[in-house]
Amino acid sequence: MNFTDFYGNEPIKTILNAHLFHAYLIEGPEGSGKHTLADKITNALVCDGVNPPCGICRQCYKFRQDCHPDIIRIPAEIPVDELRQVLAGIVLTPNDAKHKIYRIDNAEKLHPTAQNLLLKTLEEPPHYAVFILLCNTREGVLQTVRSRCQVLSLAPLPEETIREHFIKTFGEYDEKAKEATLLSAGFLGKALKRYGEEGDGFSEACVRLEKAAREGNAAEALKLFHYDNRESLLAFYNAFSLYIKRKLRQCAESDRAFYSTLVQKWDEAAQPMQANVNVKFWNTNLPRICLNAGRDATRRKDRI
Ligand SMILES: [Zn+2]
Repeated sequence: MNFTDFYGNEPIKTILNAHLFHAYLIEGPEGSGKHTLADKITNALVCDGVNPPCGICRQCYKFRQDCHPDIIRIPAEIPVDELRQVLAGIVLTPNDAKHKIYRIDNAEKLHPTAQNLLLKTLEEPPHYAVFILLCNTREGVLQTVRSRCQVLSLAPLPEETIREHFIKTFGEYDEKAKEATLLSAGFLGKALKRYGEEGDGFSEACVRLEKAAREGNAAEALKLFHYDNRESLLAFYNAFSLYIKRKLRQCAESDRAFYSTLVQKWDEAAQPMQANVNVKFWNTNLPRICLNAGRDATRRKDRI
């Protein structure tokens, strides 16, 4: 399994690479990376490429667009009758992928009756089905359910690993980042959130927007533009502008085409935005600019 961008937790990676279980219970506090890990596993299980998730096959595309027919997300608040219906569908083989994934975030919020119902399916699932349950602490999940799952308990990361990520993402590890790391107890998501909150509040959004532009992920880019007022939209525009210019100054040669195209296209929007900030228009146009820039940069790179 390809664990790019998933830091530390080597024992978990070893377990995942050794054997496929039909149910996982991922345990970790907020900011520990359990959603990132669950996404990796889910994506890898539907991917058709080598070293999954490959990020480029049709299955990966559907995963990113959040429209894969073999990934079934079950809300933890689901009424028992509805859960029964969803689980009855497990007998139908996957539509498109090798596996059919049932994902339940906040599994500890499942009603005990629902957990008992789930248990029956976990006892004898079809060979293609994989359950991925997420929880903050395993105590909230019935012991009987836990015993049917391979528990993956996320551990805090060493400061050095978090430091490396900060440098890779922001180009530096300043005092603010150090403090955020210290207060995060080793959980990267917490450190990034704290760092973002204490900065301009846009750090995480900038990282996500850049990633979306690289991957051509329109759904993710659009998600980041939900502004309902001119001031916030302009603040994010400016924050992203500073962010990509800093990255351009510090990037490797191989990334230069990407950042310079992005900076150029982003700057071109400055004047029309000053002239007319129609928030709704720019909420859809700015993500489009990023995606087009990402695509143009890839073409330029291909030609070189
Ligand atoms: Zn793939």
